[in-house]
Amino acid sequence: MHANGKKNVVIIGGSFAGLTAAYELKRELGERHNITVVDKNDRFTFIPSLIWVPFGWRTPEQISFPLQPSLERKGIQFVHEAVTRIDPERQVVETQTGGLPYDYLLIATGPHVDFSVVEGLGPHGGYTQSICTADHAVQAGTAWQEFLKDPGPVIVGATQGASCFGAAYEFVFNLEYALRKAGVRDQVPITFVTAEPFAGHFGIGGLKWAQGMTEWFFRHTHVDWVLDAVIERVTPNAVHFKQGSLHRAAAKNGQPEDLSGKSLPFKYAMIIPPFLGVEAIRQSGLGNERGFIVVDDYFRHLQYPNIFAAGVSVAVVPPAPCPAGCSVPKTGYISEVMAKYAARNIVASMEGKSLTPKPTTEMDAKCILDAGNQGIVMLTDRIYAPSQRKVQLLIPGPWAHWMKVWFERYFLWKMRTGRVNLP
Ligand SMILES: Cc1cc2nc3c(=O)[nH]c(=O)nc-3n(C[C@H](O)[C@H](O)[C@H](O)COP(=O)(O)OP(=O)(O)OC[C@H]3O[C@@H](n4cnc5c(N)ncnc54)[C@H](O)[C@@H]3O)c2cc1C
Repeated sequence: MHANGKKNVVIIGGSFAGLTAAYELKRELGERHNITVVDKNDRFTFIPSLIWVPFGWRTPEQISFPLQPSLERKGIQFVHEAVTRIDPERQVVETQTGGLPYDYLLIATGPHVDFSVVEGLGPHGGYTQSICTADHAVQAGTAWQEFLKDPGPVIVGATQGASCFGAAYEFVFNLEYALRKAGVRDQVPITFVTAEPFAGHFGIGGLKWAQGMTEWFFRHTHVDWVLDAVIERVTPNAVHFKQGSLHRAAAKNGQPEDLSGKSLPFKYAMIIPPFLGVEAIRQSGLGNERGFIVVDDYFRHLQYPNIFAAGVSVAVVPPAPCPAGCSVPKTGYISEVMAKYAARNIVASMEGKSLTPKPTTEMDAKCILDAGNQGIVMLTDRIYAPSQRKVQLLIPGPWAHWMKVWFERYFLWKMRTGRVNLP
């Protein structure tokens, strides 16, 4: 606490969850307390549009803005530094150059992208591309340009333990569209590889009609798909499987082919790995065995009531079986909802008022799955409680693509100007 009676609220992470919470807290607290956002990146990036960067349809600059001016305009301090550790006893966020004392802390650090799960995976020393960060997406774009000079088989997907299946689906359908636009589709067999037990499972047990609609998209675009995949390793031009069942788009009622001990060749591959909590959280011992933070219904740490968490950094119980290993997806919309409740509950804690619960089993979801020049809008009232869902809506069509394009512009404007009270 400051000598003037002001308390310090520190937020680690200035993305979907952290930035939303910062603006909400400022709206509630005004000048009464200090709010600081600390992030190792100095820009907000609209991550859902990274799927378009490799094909040259977006640059990272077009889908991002600098954090400092937006935050400072609202009277929120921005610290551009990497957090190395949190000391919950001393109530200090440690950075490379010093420490930020806090009275209340919100952790919104998102994921660490864990390529170590499979030998040969990832753009840093491996043979596959990624679109999980802006840097990865740019690198995937350079590899894409090389690939187009001498095309061949493509593999897109997500490994065992992954959670971000939606982005992998979006990428494969956008890639298929990009190949058609480049006039080389007929030279490129495409295979989608996933740990999901059925197409359209998404790590949440699917949604009504999702399996049929996803399979229809695969058949319509002539993309083969591998289910229950456990990847053993990746070598320069092949993915080797411990297990997996290959479904051919052309064989409507055929038996899937067992891929155990077999491999598929590729000239270009983009495979999303599992996520862990970031190193600073794992170093601090605040997370579970995967580094995600277990919270109560108020998004509060179970041991430290002045520490809250929101977004991908929060641990969510898997809602549906997935024998090959799926983790739970946490979308941008869900990250925003968590952030709003966390911010509201930080204010209530500061003011000695009662807190507002939002169990994850009551989380709704709104999502657009883009597929190049078409897509699917997905809505459900309970994303993490399949048996309790009353609303499950999938609306396919070309306008879904244009909705995502519009939403990208709107969302960037909303976050740049701090209007997070808008939908
Ligand atoms: C390719 C891709 C496509 C996606 N598409 C969609 C989509 O279409 N729709 C959708 O709803 N969701 C989508 N998502 C998911 C969405 O991006 C996430 O839900 C959202 O980004 C989570 O927000 P967050 O704030 O929790 O974490 P993040 O957005 O990951 O942000 C975490 C922030 O914390 C900072 N940070 C981390 N560690 C430290 C540290 N030690 N010190 C300082 N700062 C730190 C990071 O720099 C970052 O700014 C997609 C994700 C990916 C990867």
